[in-house]
Amino acid sequence: MKPPLTPLLVVAFLVSGFLPFGSAEWFAGSARVKITPEKPVDMAGYAGRTEPFKSIIHDLWAKALVLEDSTGARFAVIATDLSGINADLNPGMYSGIARQTGIQQENILLPWSHTHSGPRLRKANKSYPAVADGYLQSSIDYTKTLSEKLIRVVDLAARSLQAAELSWGQGFVPFVMNRRQRTADGIRLNPNPSGHVDRSLPCLEVKGQNEDLIATLFQVACHNTTLTAKNYALCSDFAGFAQLHIEEAYPGSNAMFMTGCAGNANPYPRGTLEIAADHGRTVGQEVCRLLSQELSPVRGPLSVKRADARLSLQASRPIEELEKIAVAGPNWLKGNARKMAEALKAGDSLPKHFEAPISVWLFADDLTLLGLSGEVVSGYALAIQNAIGHRNLWIASYCHDYFGYLPTAQIVRDGGYETRGLSNGLGWFYEKAEEEMTQAVAELAKRAGRQIDPGR
Ligand SMILES: [Zn+2]
Repeated sequence: MKPPLTPLLVVAFLVSGFLPFGSAEWFAGSARVKITPEKPVDMAGYAGRTEPFKSIIHDLWAKALVLEDSTGARFAVIATDLSGINADLNPGMYSGIARQTGIQQENILLPWSHTHSGPRLRKANKSYPAVADGYLQSSIDYTKTLSEKLIRVVDLAARSLQAAELSWGQGFVPFVMNRRQRTADGIRLNPNPSGHVDRSLPCLEVKGQNEDLIATLFQVACHNTTLTAKNYALCSDFAGFAQLHIEEAYPGSNAMFMTGCAGNANPYPRGTLEIAADHGRTVGQEVCRLLSQELSPVRGPLSVKRADARLSLQASRPIEELEKIAVAGPNWLKGNARKMAEALKAGDSLPKHFEAPISVWLFADDLTLLGLSGEVVSGYALAIQNAIGHRNLWIASYCHDYFGYLPTAQIVRDGGYETRGLSNGLGWFYEKAEEEMTQAVAELAKRAGRQIDPGR
């Protein structure tokens, strides 16, 4: 269902003999809904914070971009100022969006900013540690309303479709720092200036009638963690400040943040609100610099494919070995070791694989946008570029399902925080997962119609 043409557009059509913007490649709409919690809830991201948030630095948002291509197919990106969303958190959300807008789950990209200064999401039918007791019900209520808000934001965006032009380009972010420091005692969470990170800043520009900016989608491959566990104020960290910067420069538009392969990357320096604001300004200025230039056109139609990548987990270990790790092993392995030992003792068997949702958005030959799930480390950006070619490629992570870190084979061998395993506690990724993920992405990209040029 396209919105009716306004009289002005009809005149333009009659005079010029063609639709505005060439062949009206796209219709686009964008909307935002505030998701700042109204009651005290505890915060996500850092272990050890035992109290709910105490103040608000800036509001948190869910922002939607709905695209309709020339075939009438519709797609939605929903960018959220949240730490992460588990796939099973709100089962009714996708069906709600489909009911309201006709957009199916397959055609939805759900990224989050991975702020560590946002609310923790909690399911109603799960037990949680005592620490959350006082605020557990508010967290559960917040999570339920969040689902309704995400349905509403897509609906609002779908109701505001207008003829649009899409273009994209890439900039640079200097403060992204590898956080896997090599020491005599193994890998530590500290800056490692010689380690690999992805410092690219891909940016999609969505312009409507009169060349007005409807929305920008931009990405940084960095943990959104300038603020540390000492912070008890709600904030979307540098990603939030960057959004504010762009929206001030382009009033009426929505700036939407996505996270790249950032599993092993932190901002540098970090630690204060001033530094978070500073990083946000750096990103915002770079996006505005891109927007002031002529970017590469992004044409349709849009071919979207979604699948689950089947990733190998390490073989189950004996209960005694797991119990030993839970007490005396490296800190990052203790939690999952304890949970796996408990599961085995209860007579459960542990999974051998994990199914990670992935999607490919192929905008003809102009742009391939990959949406990976989990906290994917930067080495995957290289592995995927090598497998399918780097041409017109945008690799997003932190979408669809927040299942934990996805380390490369090398990181599995080296150890460290990013090898801590599934966030449900029931497994550690095996080295083979890297090859399996890369292959699954390559197959899906091919199915979507990408011309595969390994290494080019
Ligand atoms: Zn993280």
